[in-house]
Order: sequence, then C-alpha cells, then structure tokens
Amino acid sequence: QYDVQLENVTKRFDDVTAVDDVSLSIERGEFLTLLGPSGCGKTTTLRCIAGFETPTEGDVYVRDDRVNRVPPFERDTSMVFQSYALFPHMTVGENVAFGLKMQGISSPRATDGGTVSRASGIRASLDNLIGRHGNEEINARVTEALELVELPGFEDRMISELSGGQQQRVALARALITEPAVLLLDEPLGALDLKLRKNMQVELKNLQEELGITFVYVTHDQEEALTMSDQIAVMNGGDIEQLGTATEIYEQPETEFVADFIGETNLVRGTYRETDTGAVIETDGLSFAVSRDNDVTSSSASFAIRPEKIRLGDDARGQDNEFRGEVVEEIYKGNLGKFVVRLENGQQLTVDMQIRDQGAYRSTGESIQVGWSRENAVV
Ligand code: ADP
Ligand code: MG
Repeated sequence: QYDVQLENVTKRFDDVTAVDDVSLSIERGEFLTLLGPSGCGKTTTLRCIAGFETPTEGDVYVRDDRVNRVPPFERDTSMVFQSYALFPHMTVGENVAFGLKMQGISSPRATDGGTVSRASGIRASLDNLIGRHGNEEINARVTEALELVELPGFEDRMISELSGGQQQRVALARALITEPAVLLLDEPLGALDLKLRKNMQVELKNLQEELGITFVYVTHDQEEALTMSDQIAVMNGGDIEQLGTATEIYEQPETEFVADFIGETNLVRGTYRETDTGAVIETDGLSFAVSRDNDVTSSSASFAIRPEKIRLGDDARGQDNEFRGEVVEEIYKGNLGKFVVRLENGQQLTVDMQIRDQGAYRSTGESIQVGWSRENAVV
C-alpha cells in the first residue's frame, strides 16, 4: 500500500531540469528521506508531491489518486517549509489554526526566507475559518496540535517571542493540525544549532512512529538521513541515484557519488579484470582484490572502501588485500585514531581505528602493513 507514488516525474523550469525522470514509491507509514547536495532537486520533488509545482511530465499519486492537477489544499498532504513561513505578527494559536486554512492559499514559496506582512488579510480569512468551523472546535484542535509538539499552553504567545526551536515546533503543529496522511518536511531542522537538531531528530522520529503517518523528509545532511529514515533516496542532478535503507546505502553504495556523499570513503579507480578467484582492480602497479561484479560493463571501474574497514599492523595480515604502507598523517587521537597511509604506488587511504591500547597507536613516518577483506571493497 503506497501513500505516495511518483511515476517518471520530470520538472523543468525553462532550461533547468530540476527533477529528471524520477520514479519512487513510498509505503504507508514509512519515513522516507530525499538526501542530496544543494540544487539536486529535493525541494522541487517535495513541492510536486505537495502540489505547489505541477510536473512537466509524469504522474504523482497520493494514496490511490492521481493528483497532478489537484491543488495542495485538496491533497491529503501537509508541508513544513524550510523557513517555517510563520506569520510573525500573529499569535502561536492563530498560526497553528491557520494550518486549517493554509492549504487553501497559493504557494508560500514567496514567503520563504521573508516575512509575511499581509497579517490583516490573513486575520480576515481566519475569522472566516472560525465562522465555518466554530471557535471551540478550532481551539480544541490547536490545543491538541500544540500538545503534540510539546508546546502546551503557548496559544497566546507571539511568534517573535519564540526561539528558533519553538518556531520550528509551531510550524510542525500547523502542518499536523489538518491530520494529513503524508507530512512533507523540507530541511525542517536546518536553522537549528547542532545540539537542538540532534534532539529534534529523535523527537521527530518518535512523533512519526506515534502518529503512524508517512513522512517525506528532505535534508542535505547524510548523518540526519542515516539516523532517521526507513528508506533513503539519494539524489544527484535531479535524479535518484540510489534508494535503500540506511545500511544498504552505507554498506553497498551503487555509484561513486553515493559512496562519496554518504560518510567518509576511500575511492580507488583503475582497470577491472576478472580472475580465477574473483576480480581485481589494477592501478599504478598495484592490484586490489575485489568481488566479481556482474554490473561492471567497462574495463575502467572503481571501488570504495570505508576507513573503518581497513586494518593496520598485525590485524592486516592474511587479508585478501595486504600491502606495505607508510603513515603520512595522524589526524586525531583519543580512542579513535584516524590515519592517512600511503601505499607503495602513492595511493593514499584514510583509516579509522579503535585504539584499544596505546601500543596500537601509529605515528607519522612509520612503515606498516595495510589490509582489508575484498568483501569490504564495494565495486
Ligand atoms: P534542492 O532543494 O535540492 O536544493 P531545488 O529543488 O530547490 O534543489 O532546485 C533544483 C534546481 O532547480 C536548481 O538548479 C534550482 O535553481 C532550480 N529551480 C528550483 N525552483 C526553481 C524555479 N521556481 N525557477 C527556476 N529554477 C528553479
Ligand atoms: Mg531545497
């Protein structure tokens, strides 16, 4: 059962292709993250799901309805904007209540980063809303939404009095008050400092599990994506390069881009050749053992190896890949050592190592065995 489906969605702005033939199915109750660098098309994809953009080509489905031409307020979705797009001269309660109306107004993109000065007009439509729903019902729903985001009793505060973290919660309450099937969040924690961001990551994840609704979450922060998501879609240049769980994305990156973007990695390019026991990638006189990969179609290929998968010293002996190297840099100390080692052919590798006793510590200039298992080298 899918809550959101994109089928071959392309979105062009004049000569810019922001989203390039994206297909994606998001299951009910899933926490899916669109992850990628700035400009890769995350926001545009999210806005196509929300209805603030119409795809140039392809189809968008929410639940079982094709919604290409359905305006945002008639979709079973709700969006938390990157800059919150709150009304600074209105109370928290008014802002949250406006969520019920919000879906009816035109694209708030214009308010991104700016403030909204049309408070009087907005008040008028809020009065209209109150007229239609009745004050009590609205108040009850505002109270409930504020409790959900842990701001109980904040109804009468002004937005301008709130901290960034509290504003973020108000934006969340405003999106949740409509009880959407799908919540769309565009870098919602981007403006918060690191400690608050970490706390909110856990809270948002808990909230999503508690509510059981589908979250589509946008971030450029790979650590955030790895922490929170059931599924991660890694985007690059308008395209999804890989879709998978955090573990799949981290352990089995399918492209150089994914390997490089997610976590730290050593990338080695060379010539791929199959052997009796598997395959090798050769470069500058060294031959690296890798697993045979049926997807390799050209002789030039690369493999990625994570810094923590490389062993040094006695640990390196007997591995499928074993080389002589020299420590050229020690990056920091403590119980996790980070080293740069140079192999005989000049290839440099970053190595992370748990230091169990100080005897295991390596110093710059030291000559050392370097090794890893071919299973850990991802072609
Ligand atoms: P992200 O959210 O990943 O940073 P966006 O979806 O905002 O990326 O943008 C993807 C690309 O589309 C960028 O090159 C951006 O400049 C362009 N773009 C986005 N929105 C518009 C627009 N309304 N008009 C023109 N170009 C746009
Ligand atoms: Mg964006």
